[in-house]
Amino acid sequence: MTALIEDVIFGPVRSRRLGLSLGVNLLPVASKLCNFNCIYCECGWSGTGVPGRFNSREDVRRLLGEKLREMAAAGRCPDVITFAGNGEPTTHPQFEAVIDDTIALRDAICPSTKVSVLSNATMIGRESVRRALERVDNNILKLDSAFDDTVRLIDDPQGAYSVAGTVANMKLFEGRLIIQTMFLRGECNGQRVDNTTETEVSAWLELVRQIEPRQVMIYTIDRDTPAENLEKVPLEELRTIAARVEALGITTTVAG
Ligand code: SF4
Repeated sequence: MTALIEDVIFGPVRSRRLGLSLGVNLLPVASKLCNFNCIYCECGWSGTGVPGRFNSREDVRRLLGEKLREMAAAGRCPDVITFAGNGEPTTHPQFEAVIDDTIALRDAICPSTKVSVLSNATMIGRESVRRALERVDNNILKLDSAFDDTVRLIDDPQGAYSVAGTVANMKLFEGRLIIQTMFLRGECNGQRVDNTTETEVSAWLELVRQIEPRQVMIYTIDRDTPAENLEKVPLEELRTIAARVEALGITTTVAG
């Protein structure tokens, strides 16, 4: 069963990749709102459930402030405040202002806490989104394949998307980004899906080399996915891919 986040602020949870992570969900609490429809999405398929609205900037600021104050009073600030949740956070119309509020709260209440944004990178062509992502500690952007056809199979973009355009925008961060890639294989809608072939991995590595991120995070399926018949990639294989990224001089983390 895939699951939706039911709150604006969720957790804290111990994350495989980020440590003790307090989540912020800018998206609806009862449905998913995303411009991708990834076959591995832990929130389920896009476009199902009751249509919802973005959580307001004011609610996010108030609820995040309350939670941070509560955690600080208990002597346990989160390692990281993570923007994730039921869809794509950067599509929020006031994303930049929300990030400004978050940084101000963090500085005032839990100054050693980092701010992370997990994004599918579809909105980084928008200047206000790019400005906001430049200010967070961990600007984590998805790149699941170097090939448009594979991205269509795995991530199913709902609007215009091209790998070339996305990579060009990623380069504008001049290294102040983390690339996150889900490796998987299996079948979906009768079609073979596999971004672990040599053709896939070597083309992806070439893009990583060009983008020059400060870090790469690779991972595979962990929980239930909306598409059935998807396979987890063995940890050893992920480590082999990671070693090839490290050989480019880029720190890489692996979550199996
Ligand atoms: S980008 Fe994230 S939230 Fe959107 S469909 Fe993919 S995994 Fe789900």
